[in-house]
Amino acid sequence: MNPGRCAACRHLRRKCPPDCIFIPHFPPNVPQLFVSVHRIYGASNVAKLLQQLPLHLRADAAESLCLEAQYRIEDPVYGCVGLISLLQQQILDAEKQLAKTRAEIAFLKSQAAQHPQAAALRGNLSDNAADLSFSDHHQSFCG
Ligand SMILES: [Zn+2]
Repeated sequence: MNPGRCAACRHLRRKCPPDCIFIPHFPPNVPQLFVSVHRIYGASNVAKLLQQLPLHLRADAAESLCLEAQYRIEDPVYGCVGLISLLQQQILDAEKQLAKTRAEIAFLKSQAAQHPQAAALRGNLSDNAADLSFSDHHQSFCG
């Protein structure tokens, strides 16, 4: 057994030629990368895809294929789209929370502008949580 074979040639039980298309992207010390890619796309399809690309794009393509194959194995229905959808939902939730917080701040600032004597009593209204909770509490006394 040749220890210098790339992970692809080792998995396919073949000799690894010096110009092997897989060797820069599937090193022998990370065999699982090729196993996933081979299982999802097939070795010959991956070889064809890499050969069609310019040299400077092959590393990114191989990395993308590895990630997509791993996510497709983890989630056979949605693959990496499942993760993308989850992250997009988290972004939407964070944006909603941010808009709600900004609206609360704007409301509190307008309240402070309408009642400048109350604002002077408690100091300048700032954006930190301590001031927001104080103003909520103070508002109940003022009606
Ligand atoms: Zn090889």
